[in-house]
Amino acid sequence: MIYSLVKESVTKEEDPFVHFEGEALRYSEVLQRADGFAQHLVSLGINARDRVAWLGTNHPHFIVSLLACSKLNVTFVPLNYRGKYAELQQMVEDSGARVIVSERRYRELADDLNTHCRTIEQVISAEEVYVGQEPLAVTQGANDDLAYLIFTSGTTSQPKPVMITSKTIANFLSVYPNADSIGKTVSLLHAPNFHIAGLLNALLSLVGTNHIAMLRQFDARQWLQAVEDVNVTKTFLAPTMMKLITDTLQERQYDLSSLQSIVYGSAKAQLPVLEAFMNGLPEQTAVTHVYGMTETLSTITLLGSDVHDEHRKRPTEQTKRRIQSVGKPLPDVEIQIWDSEGQVLPANEVGTVVARTSRTMQGYYNRPEATAKALQGGWYVSSDAGYLDEEGYLYVEGRLDDMIIRGGENIAPNEIEEVLLLHEGVYDVSVVPRVSETWGQEIVAVIVPSHAKNTYSEKELQEHVRQHLSSFKVPSACHFVDELPRNATGKILKQPLIKAVENLKM
Ligand code: ATP
Repeated sequence: MIYSLVKESVTKEEDPFVHFEGEALRYSEVLQRADGFAQHLVSLGINARDRVAWLGTNHPHFIVSLLACSKLNVTFVPLNYRGKYAELQQMVEDSGARVIVSERRYRELADDLNTHCRTIEQVISAEEVYVGQEPLAVTQGANDDLAYLIFTSGTTSQPKPVMITSKTIANFLSVYPNADSIGKTVSLLHAPNFHIAGLLNALLSLVGTNHIAMLRQFDARQWLQAVEDVNVTKTFLAPTMMKLITDTLQERQYDLSSLQSIVYGSAKAQLPVLEAFMNGLPEQTAVTHVYGMTETLSTITLLGSDVHDEHRKRPTEQTKRRIQSVGKPLPDVEIQIWDSEGQVLPANEVGTVVARTSRTMQGYYNRPEATAKALQGGWYVSSDAGYLDEEGYLYVEGRLDDMIIRGGENIAPNEIEEVLLLHEGVYDVSVVPRVSETWGQEIVAVIVPSHAKNTYSEKELQEHVRQHLSSFKVPSACHFVDELPRNATGKILKQPLIKAVENLKM
């Protein structure tokens, strides 16, 4: 479907389309390469509904491979190039891919996977350009054919393969506001393409922009330089990226005047991080917040630029509260909050966030039990805790599993993290539980200090929390580290931290 949409949207085949490391590929070149690559896959015996895995960073080859698979109605399976070998092996086995298309830098890894994974027949070099004969006709597929098998981030457990059909993609493209459709648009791709946000950003850019600029991977300096060099108009960012961009802007000025739209999401953006980031943007840049998950084909709620603008211009207690919500459901989404029995909770009560939308996954591939747990009566049951306010704004408190229960009180780590980040001595923080005989669990703040040499004591930081929150929310200990462990999409991995504080003498 994406192949056909791109083909239909081309007005001038000779116009530059994909910009990468100082070079530009025209529409005609991208489509010819995709046609050539599709013919090569067919010559290897790949048929419609087979699976082809992709192992590589953001590169024009990624676009070419994705379009070729779309043309052949082949399921595209992007793999986490930062994954551990065992994880990747599991992903490949799970997906049933017959071929891996690999960038040169991951060739050794791909060859190893070829040796050890039953289904893989061969590895194809992503860099090879295949010149086809007469282009093949587009293979028409059915609505429920799998367009993508994409893995969840593995934040709470093993990454799970999510089945995404052509119909789901069509539904997504019909509801997602593809922000700036007027005038010349340049979209910057840099998020990992194996993550739902990176993949969907690529799809939206393919069908909704004039130019695509690509960075292999996110790097704050390169990101800022790319915005300046190719006049990027729109892009997606995760909160960690926003923080790194803000830090890098301290080094020197960049011309960001082309930026029209920034969409952020995929993890909680702490208020101080968001505010500092918005301060560094040109006034006209529209900032939008999205919340979603792989299982619902990403965005289910959206907090618009109007709320962000209001907070930027005239911050009040009301805007401060609102901007920390993840917004309201998109038109094709219903949200409810359930208690542990599956009963709907009223406004302002915290429970499990569940969603119903036409974009919900078919299920996890080959995981009937996990699917039955996640899909209940047409609803997707997330692993997030949250509440809806009277006006229908959703507030996400964090992962249900991350909630700390101290002396019977439910505590959202997020609230304490936010307060700690207000302190000038705290650069980054994660709040985790530690087993306690007295309280069941006690609170530990794992802190990256703002200065190389930690200048604030545990006592001072505890006092800071006490000034903002009830005393039962004050961490019983602060543990100082150089860096927090994060996955490829910038989400903090709490399990290693919980393990690390378990045995600490405090
Ligand atoms: P796994 O399911 O394997 O543990 P994961 O849930 O991290 O991994 P994803 O589908 O990539 O996999 O992430 C979805 C989750 O990311 C959501 O359930 C939520 O916890 C978090 N998330 C996404 N967007 C936001 C946001 N805007 N604010 C807060 N959290 C968010």
